[in-house]
Amino acid sequence: MKLDGSIGTFVQKVNTLTGRMGWVLEDEYYDYHQEIARSMYADMLHDTDRNEKYYSAIKKAIDEMHAKNKKAHVLDIGTGTGLLSMMAANCGADTIVACEGFPPMADIAKCLLQDNCLANKIKVISKRSTQLRVGVDLDHKANILVTEVFDTELIGEGAIETFNHANEHLLEDDAIVIPSAARVYCQVIESDLLQSANKIRPKFLVLHGNELRLPRNMVNCTGTCGVHDIQLDQIHPNDVKILSSPLQIFKFDFCKSVIPYNETSKISFEALTNGMCTSVAFWWELDMDAAGETVISIAPSFVKVTPWRDHWMQAIYHLHKTLPVKQGAQLELVASHDKYSNFFHLFEKQSTKPIEELGPPSCTCGLHTSISRTRLMAVNDLSRWLKYLKVLANLPRISIAVYIGDFSLLPFAVASIAHKVYCIEENPVTYNVMENIIKENNLSNKVIILKKYDKVMIEGDVDVVLSEPYFRDTIYPWDNCRIWFMWHSMASKHTMILPSICKIYALPLQLDHLHKIRSPCRQVCGFSLHAFDKLIEKSSERSDNDVETQPLWEYSGIALATSSLMAEYNFEEAPPESVRISEGTMDVKFQGTCNGIAIWIDWLFGEETITTGPISQVIPGESVHWDKGTRQGIYFMKNTPPNVVPGNQIKHEVILDPVAGNFLFDFRLKEENPK
Ligand code: SAH
Ligand code: ZN
Repeated sequence: MKLDGSIGTFVQKVNTLTGRMGWVLEDEYYDYHQEIARSMYADMLHDTDRNEKYYSAIKKAIDEMHAKNKKAHVLDIGTGTGLLSMMAANCGADTIVACEGFPPMADIAKCLLQDNCLANKIKVISKRSTQLRVGVDLDHKANILVTEVFDTELIGEGAIETFNHANEHLLEDDAIVIPSAARVYCQVIESDLLQSANKIRPKFLVLHGNELRLPRNMVNCTGTCGVHDIQLDQIHPNDVKILSSPLQIFKFDFCKSVIPYNETSKISFEALTNGMCTSVAFWWELDMDAAGETVISIAPSFVKVTPWRDHWMQAIYHLHKTLPVKQGAQLELVASHDKYSNFFHLFEKQSTKPIEELGPPSCTCGLHTSISRTRLMAVNDLSRWLKYLKVLANLPRISIAVYIGDFSLLPFAVASIAHKVYCIEENPVTYNVMENIIKENNLSNKVIILKKYDKVMIEGDVDVVLSEPYFRDTIYPWDNCRIWFMWHSMASKHTMILPSICKIYALPLQLDHLHKIRSPCRQVCGFSLHAFDKLIEKSSERSDNDVETQPLWEYSGIALATSSLMAEYNFEEAPPESVRISEGTMDVKFQGTCNGIAIWIDWLFGEETITTGPISQVIPGESVHWDKGTRQGIYFMKNTPPNVVPGNQIKHEVILDPVAGNFLFDFRLKEENPK
């Protein structure tokens, strides 16, 4: 749909705050620009180690061709901002074709080439490489391929197909391929912390000595396929035990050979110590030249020192079956990959199972496909669970309780003290998972799931309305304030509400690295990327929210103040119908560069506080221990992050807009000595 001749489309979107549908006008590239702004392109460009190693490999390859009296015909697959093509141009390549499969990015590349006066040397084709035809898109085959189409899993962006197709159709026989090979490694580990993101606890204590049992198929489910990418270096050494030395599982030769889409390798090893094998840590290294002299490595720091980066992390894969082992035990790891992902099986002795039976994991219980790993960590968090139980234990006798929200075990705890619990589970995906737990615990007379709130379905007056709160489709932790809007349409004056109050806090931080992912690129290897910075700046101006979410426990940094309360809402009052503004200031308590401000919400659940922020006292100048079961909000300071000292103040503002369905945040360093 067009609006008055301007380019735009009405898109139907959920108002994440009130939970209702609404129409929003989006311009043609709106989502794409957002996508690019919030993507890893900038972090990639900040990765000096990566950039320099590509640059020198490109130079070496072009010199080598010229030394053989051959022209250097370069093909750059997945050009992104055009960086690697610009490098090739600077190194004297004779022809350069750059292709990019994401059209808005190809447009950006063209623009950047122009800014760098290289547009006439590089031909940009807005296509996936597998659609390129020699004689149509390329005048002739290339003899140098340069490409960086790797993700944390190495092959998740379709690298195997990209190389196979290029080798078969787009490259000369003697072509130099950059990188020339990749080696993939893993290490078997024990980690209850990481495990809690994949396996639900088999039992949860509820009240009066009762237990809630989770269905066996849920407890034993292997989870979903796919990598769990994580800043492994931020995990406390107490939370991981290393059970094997590093094991090389695959080597991919990117030159000429045909890489199989499906491959399995079996590696025997000896357990280094007693433990429970739960997961494997995974990383890879790229050989940038045929001799393997220059290597890009994403190994974790317990293996070797590598630069910090967020566009590639180390990865975790959860084992199909956990395995207890004794030091010195002989074990066999079966590592497999398909076209896009890796998966692992572990055996005590040589596995006798045929490989076909050792397929990729796939969730059969519904839980893993319906909630995120972060959410599962929150559900498994016992300290949080015990807080709920403590509050419930002190409640007066309840006849009827209503629970609002998506997948939660809280209604089952309420069931042990209430006559009936009605769950308003509007999300069809989590509905079935809840039904299975009811069946397993013979609670079908007690816990009733409703797909929608319907007064006639509820027998009697509601004594209490509860929520964790958690909704699957929310982005920010404070979007869960949706409960405020929902329960006021269902509760009477006498109904108790849990949580009854929420508080939004902020904390200025000096981050060690995370801020880099959104900081301007300016010049990279001598090329101007200002136009790219502009685009990101513009897209964030147009965005209705400058705050993004990140799992802050994975990123190091220090607090520059103590937590500052920004806004407080009492759910016992009627929810606002128009904009509500809260303003205040926070005092800097420690000298540093304030490059980010963390934002989170606390829910006052009876006498207990359920936090989505720091889980221990915040001490200025020290690192913060963040809740791992929720992503926190993070606001990156615009332009140059200010250096602050004790005595400085930062003004903050929270705007709750119920019609647009969002919260807006603004932070400003107060001018010193205002006149
Ligand atoms: N070469 C740039 C960007 C790397 S990011 C740099 O090094 O900075 C990878 C890019 O490759 C993404 O923009 C992605 O859209 C693109 N891509 C991945 N596989 C591709 C393929 N087979 N053909 C064309 N583009 C591809
Ligand atoms: Zn499952």
